[in-house]
Amino acid sequence: MRNLVLFGPPGAGKGTQSAFLVDHYNLVHLSTGDVFRFNIKGETQLGKLAQSYMDKGELVPDAVTISMLQQEVENRPDANGFIFDGFPRTTAQAQALDQFLEGRGDSIECMLSLEVEVEELKKRLLARAATSGRADDADIDVIQKRIDVYNSETAPVAHFYKTAGKFKSIDGHGSLGDITGRLVDAIG
Ligand code: ADP
Repeated sequence: MRNLVLFGPPGAGKGTQSAFLVDHYNLVHLSTGDVFRFNIKGETQLGKLAQSYMDKGELVPDAVTISMLQQEVENRPDANGFIFDGFPRTTAQAQALDQFLEGRGDSIECMLSLEVEVEELKKRLLARAATSGRADDADIDVIQKRIDVYNSETAPVAHFYKTAGKFKSIDGHGSLGDITGRLVDAIG
């Protein structure tokens, strides 16, 4: 199995690049943000809970997110491998993912970290609001909160994969094709 973590701040291009990588490597795309939004749309209990955090730009609690992610993986026994997008977002999530995969005789191959400077992130998110319909993209205060949470809670996750020798930094500026090329080169 080829399991990849696509990492980076909000607006770094994780979702966009995932769409190409799933086709190219025949993987299952698993975006925790997408699963939460699906649940919000379906007005499930999980959706209601998640929305209360997402609207504020905060993280959904680890226990909820981890068990949801595990369920999503278990729902795809046919998968060749996964692209994890937006997960893990805390060190506790990274540890849980490692243990969970290990229990299945599996592991993460590498973390691909899309590096984009902060002014560019804000510009991309505000532009995306026009088409995404996402309330968390339309409000600059919520965007700033998401970037702050990324820096305090999520950025340390890179260290976890650096220690394991699995961290790859990718320049996330430039054309979509250029960035895809860098990702493919890094995956090898
Ligand atoms: P972005 O990367 O642009 O912030 P996502 O769709 O990945 O967009 O995430 C949107 C929101 O969903 C986050 O701000 C957070 O509230 C919630 N969320 C997504 N993934 C996780 C996660 N792994 N842990 C906790 N909360 C999450």
